[in-house]
Amino acid sequence: MHSPHDPYVRVRGAREHNLKGVDVDIPRDVVAVFTGVSGSGKSSLAFGTVYAEAQRRYFESVAPYARRLIHQVGAPKVGEITGLPPAVSLQQRRSTPTSRSSVGTVTNLSNSLRMLFSRAGDHPPGAARLDSDAFSPNTAAGACPECHGLGQVHRTTEELLVPDPSLSIREGAIAAWPGAWQGKNLRDILDALGYDVDLPWRELPAEQREWILFTNEQPVVTVHPVREAQRIQRPYQGTYMSARRYVMKTFSDSKSPTLRAKAERFLASAPCPACGGSRLRPEALAVTFAGRTIADLAALPLAALAETLEGATGTARVLTEDLTARIAPVLELGLGYLSLDRATPTLSAGELQRLRLATQLVSGLFGVVYVLDEPSAGLHPADTEALLTVLQRLKAAGNSVFVVEHHLEVMRAADWLVDVGPRAGEHGGRVLHSGPVAELAGVEESATARFLFDRSPDTVRQVRTPSGELSVGPVTRHNLREVTARFPLGVFTAVTGVSGSGKSTLIGEITEELPGVERLVAVDQKPIGRTPRSNLATYTGLFDVVRKVFAATDEARERGYGVGRFSFNVSGGRCETCQGEGFVSVELLFLPSTYAPCPDCGGARYNPDTLEVTYRGRNIAQVLDLTVEAAADFFADTPAIARSLGTLLDVGLGYLRLGQPATELSGGEAQRIKLASELQRGRRGSTLYLLDEPTTGLHPADVEVLMRQLHGLVDAGHTVIVVEHDMSVVAGADWVIDLGPGGGDAGGRIVAAGPPAEVARASGSATAPYLRAVLD
Ligand code: ADP
Ligand code: ADP
Ligand code: ZN
Ligand code: ZN
Repeated sequence: MHSPHDPYVRVRGAREHNLKGVDVDIPRDVVAVFTGVSGSGKSSLAFGTVYAEAQRRYFESVAPYARRLIHQVGAPKVGEITGLPPAVSLQQRRSTPTSRSSVGTVTNLSNSLRMLFSRAGDHPPGAARLDSDAFSPNTAAGACPECHGLGQVHRTTEELLVPDPSLSIREGAIAAWPGAWQGKNLRDILDALGYDVDLPWRELPAEQREWILFTNEQPVVTVHPVREAQRIQRPYQGTYMSARRYVMKTFSDSKSPTLRAKAERFLASAPCPACGGSRLRPEALAVTFAGRTIADLAALPLAALAETLEGATGTARVLTEDLTARIAPVLELGLGYLSLDRATPTLSAGELQRLRLATQLVSGLFGVVYVLDEPSAGLHPADTEALLTVLQRLKAAGNSVFVVEHHLEVMRAADWLVDVGPRAGEHGGRVLHSGPVAELAGVEESATARFLFDRSPDTVRQVRTPSGELSVGPVTRHNLREVTARFPLGVFTAVTGVSGSGKSTLIGEITEELPGVERLVAVDQKPIGRTPRSNLATYTGLFDVVRKVFAATDEARERGYGVGRFSFNVSGGRCETCQGEGFVSVELLFLPSTYAPCPDCGGARYNPDTLEVTYRGRNIAQVLDLTVEAAADFFADTPAIARSLGTLLDVGLGYLRLGQPATELSGGEAQRIKLASELQRGRRGSTLYLLDEPTTGLHPADVEVLMRQLHGLVDAGHTVIVVEHDMSVVAGADWVIDLGPGGGDAGGRIVAAGPPAEVARASGSATAPYLRAVLD
């Protein structure tokens, strides 16, 4: 029975996704780590059940009208949960923040800095003391009037607008102009205005070229069209618009992303000349603290900002102490190289999550359960220790900390372990262990136990001999200064270093243009699509074959259904209520809009007629609902489908459903899908594969599977370069390039390069001790 003093969160009968009626008890005063292979059901338990239920209760308490929404979206499938505190989730799978958000806004540090400038900044003599709003580029009071607070101005130049000046206007000299009728219209207007549209562009007088491209005038003239077509055209009134005006207007107003992208090609962005890119109006930039403007301070790495503030005295002291206290956890989490003005879209998911974690630390919340999703992603082992301290501090402040994690160090440091498994999808969904870490050792069927407690050394692989070398650099970008790196070809290379040391910057310089690279494939973690219309089956091309199979059934032929009938993206076979999306958006006052299953098709995406066609007893919606693993059985004798499914199984994605929307996939899953489609393609010549932290989101058992695939590529003559923090992967590489020694300005150098055993002994490398621990 539940009493208010019961120290456990007790979950009964959890059936979300693959969970098999899970009963589990987790103490509230612990750091609990949820483990298990990918697809075993960890997230379904931690996020889909515990967090979702806490959120449902919260909605119900603040907004009784939200019941309708909860009813539509569906409460988590769970019998009962007792002892559940309010929950805060820090998840990595989330929508991208707006481009105006920055490190400063995410952490709220910008607000405090503005307050400091308003109250304690040195204002110019005679000037009025500015309000803190006046220091924000996101308010009318603070934004630079020239660039409206964007910091950048977009400009066009003659070179951009007219890439080939040997052409005449009629031949299409003005590349920026719209195509089709509108382009001809503008040409005819110029003709009517008396310009020579048949002269090569470069022979036109300068003032004419200037007017044609840049004028703000919009003269109206009568055009007598001379057409290639036979039809007789009437004269009409045409309005001229210069190429610049057209490009600017399209860029800022067009609703079509394609047109906007095209316009952007004719624009060069430059720092705003008025504010120098600081986005602030001159009055704000006239105020200083410790001799610097607020823009100067916002551009400093946080570690340097904290030092600057520490020197403060007098009245400012109270404000600066608050600021430095709030910067401290950010430094502790290894993010001292970030500056407040860094835009959030340039941060990795892991960096962003840790920033929000640092913000939570100083929020003073207690009595909540924090639910986190692999907070160690992107963290060097050296920084993982700091992360563990931070998690313990959240706990010490009176919170529960539930973490979905794959890294063994995080598991070992947990107070409590919830192991889900034993395998993925329908072969998982049970809790194998819930208790202290050490007690997992006795659980036979746990894949986690094998890695946590088995210390037998890995079989040593023969180090490969490179077939050549790729020289990159000298690179001077971000924190790299004239760095030249040599990557051996035909082997497996791991690039290591603490977060912010410059790994991504360095491998970003590897391009197809470099001598030695025949073909470059970057297998990144970007989504495989941004809408629920793309999914695993459409991305891999597998769905085309599936649709052919359905169109070839007797039933489909009798009804005259072709391949298109089985698409949910075009009219015909799809459900028109949801236009094939399977769900509809529900808007509710004051709450973020959310999705609910389509009332007509219930999520099937197709209309009833289409669903009457079956292949081996399943309709198209039921096939999309199959997991890769089940589909591999179902389509075993259709070679084109079986082959794609086989590669998906090879990279450990057997638990995904064919129709799982792209938007539901994690970065790691997206990356493995890309890798699978790559493996499936016939590979000609030698290819260079670049992967940024491919083990993110993977249980050590899944890492093994993935590594077999990657090493297989190398054995077939290709080159693989990975950025990696997982020392078991690094130890298995042929070559290691270690960057550092620190992050930001404290990094950006190659500290060591060589075979793993050699790098493990390098002095001054932050990686060496951890690599040594795995090798010895
Ligand atoms: P883990 O967190 O252990 O990787 P998940 O909880 O994400 O595993 O997934 C467990 C199972 O539930 C998998 O088979 C997965 O395909 C399925 N699943 C995950 N999300 C959904 C969803 N939104 N709808 C239906 N099934 C899902
Ligand atoms: P790593 O991949 O090792 O974590 P990065 O190459 O991402 O490191 O970063 C190296 C340095 O460059 C850091 O100081 C980081 O803040 C900076 N940096 C990275 N990306 C950007 C960017 N888009 N704009 C400004 N600075 C950046
Ligand atoms: Zn400006
Ligand atoms: Zn529908």
